[in-house]
Amino acid sequence: MIVMKQSNNKIKELKRKRNNIFKEMFIYRSCIRGSITKIYKMCSNRECECHSTNRKKHGLASYISSSHDGRTRMIYVPFPMEEEAEKRVEGYKRLRELIEELSEINSEIFKLEKVLKKGE
Ligand SMILES: [Zn+2]
Repeated sequence: MIVMKQSNNKIKELKRKRNNIFKEMFIYRSCIRGSITKIYKMCSNRECECHSTNRKKHGLASYISSSHDGRTRMIYVPFPMEEEAEKRVEGYKRLRELIEELSEINSEIFKLEKVLKKGE
């Protein structure tokens, strides 16, 4: 019976941890999968030097790049939104870590629940 009590307490503790993970997950609800890529821009003026072979570029432009079914998607990030884009991309990484933690906790809970079932 002492094993059952210990298992129950452990489950309670794990479920508490699980709730905290969900709270943290909410913070990253605006996450975007991808990475920030900086590319030198070419302008729309075909006569401009930036189109020539020696490539006089206008400056770095940021994009959120991600692959979808083998294709790369690029979302242009305007300069004032660079920090925001960075945060969203980082949020996705953190969210993935949290899902991994969630799975570990649930595995532990599952194992403990098996022990409790045996004791019935
Ligand atoms: Zn140009």
